[in-house]
Amino acid sequence: VPALTPRFLRPRSLKEALDLLSRSEDCRVLAGGTDLMVMLHAGVVRPKVVLDVWSLPELKGIRTDDGFLEVGAAEPYAGIIGSPQVERHCPALVEAARTIGAVQIQSRGTLGGNLANASPAGDTLPVMLAADAEVVTDRRRIPVAEFFTGYRKTALSPGELIVAVRFPVGRQLLFRKVGTRAAQAISKVVLAVCREPARIAVGSVAEVPLRAKRAEAVLEKGGKTGEVVEVVKDEIRPIDDVRSTAEYRRAVTANVLRRLLTGPTRA
Ligand SMILES: Cc1cc2nc3c(=O)[nH]c(=O)nc-3n(C[C@H](O)[C@H](O)[C@H](O)COP(=O)(O)OP(=O)(O)OC[C@H]3O[C@@H](n4cnc5c(N)ncnc54)[C@H](O)[C@@H]3O)c2cc1C
Repeated sequence: VPALTPRFLRPRSLKEALDLLSRSEDCRVLAGGTDLMVMLHAGVVRPKVVLDVWSLPELKGIRTDDGFLEVGAAEPYAGIIGSPQVERHCPALVEAARTIGAVQIQSRGTLGGNLANASPAGDTLPVMLAADAEVVTDRRRIPVAEFFTGYRKTALSPGELIVAVRFPVGRQLLFRKVGTRAAQAISKVVLAVCREPARIAVGSVAEVPLRAKRAEAVLEKGGKTGEVVEVVKDEIRPIDDVRSTAEYRRAVTANVLRRLLTGPTRA
């Protein structure tokens, strides 16, 4: 009979965590647990080992370094919301963090978890895409643009741990999430936009968080807002599901994008 309760390991350092990760067969990393605990309870995943990285000092903290804002993979949203550095260098990330779940989820949920879980509706993911952020792992740096490889699939190799996310500073990003309510709502559509360089990132409208690259090219060349919006409508691949219809998602993406592109930039 397979064991239903996984072995629980809590390393004290990154080195110990990587060592355990490389030696443990069928191991799942746990950060805040806000996605993983749901999956464990539902029996969707049944790992033999759970490796708790929540308290690792190397995965915590927020710092600026050499033109980048670096956020530890296990830093919770509450830390991001309260960080003057994030507010100064990437306020859109604070906005996104404020829309996630409610205070309980914000106290435990992390960027590393949002990335690795790779839901098309992950709210921080369009911000990372529009910022050209990099995912720092224990072995390499992966541009976020190359991170999502399919529905809930990522470029991470087995046993690879996300350590931090690096955001280039100095970008003016605009963010907007549309859900059923202000809190505890999964996105129907979520957008992050940058005018210069032109970046249009949209979540919940395809099997992966998407960059609308053809529309970005139109925006970059100074194309009219209406033109950019029409191209985005063509690039997204929304589906009908319990939260919305594809038609609704297409219309809302167009309306929100139009407003973001014609409204004022954030001061
Ligand atoms: C009630 C509720 C409301 C929610 N609302 C929102 C919302 O509004 N918006 C939103 O985007 N999400 C929402 N979520 C989903 C979840 O909170 C986020 O995706 C969160 O960022 C996950 O982070 P975590 O640290 O809890 O991840 P965990 O649950 O610990 O892990 C999630 C996945 O990532 C892997 N992982 C975690 N950390 C690492 C790492 N450092 N390296 C490699 N792999 C790692 C785990 O193995 C697991 O597969 C909600 C969840 C709940 C239960």
